[in-house]
Amino acid sequence: MRYMTLLSDGDVKTHQDLNEIQVYGKNVTILKEEFINHVTKRVGTGLRNVVQDWKKKGVTLGGKKCGSLKDETIKKLRNFYRKAITDNAPDVDKMKSSIFATLHHCMSTDKNPHLSKCPVGKNSFCFYQRALAKNQKPKTHSTMKTPLSNVVVEKIMPVYQRRASTEILNRCTSAKTQNQNESLHGVIWNKCPKEVFVPSHDWNLQLLLL
Ligand SMILES: [Zn+2]
Repeated sequence: MRYMTLLSDGDVKTHQDLNEIQVYGKNVTILKEEFINHVTKRVGTGLRNVVQDWKKKGVTLGGKKCGSLKDETIKKLRNFYRKAITDNAPDVDKMKSSIFATLHHCMSTDKNPHLSKCPVGKNSFCFYQRALAKNQKPKTHSTMKTPLSNVVVEKIMPVYQRRASTEILNRCTSAKTQNQNESLHGVIWNKCPKEVFVPSHDWNLQLLLL
């Protein structure tokens, strides 16, 4: 089995194209894990771009203010996104609602807790639901380190609509899982050139082969 890591600029069709055209032969598979890492990274990039784009228009979404989209919050949102996928795969609807729940969670306050959206159980990403599942008294929402203001959520919604689309989430479940017996790092692929360009639709993909 041969593996490759996808480092292109993230068109959703990329993954499907590569598996369908099987340009490298039947034994090439893009790892599910790699694809999930890839889309998770794109969430971070997308969120940072939103901050930059609005900055140019004179709107500050980043900064230290409570509810802002600071780097720490972006990292947390990326982790939430990834967890929503891996905890709920292969159920795409659950993955999707859990991803949007992460936003509702960050908007929650004690007055307006959005509780119905957060996943229940001891393994929930939501501190409030975790506490309830353990019969403990939940902490106040004001202790949340990464709250989001309504304005920020409104502005980042397009990123989430894209990254939580059925199309992308389907890719996260349809890719194959790495064979347990084969270590990714143990694969040496010395017959192929370091960089290969694969024509796909009207653009080229750059693949860096492991
Ligand atoms: Zn919550």
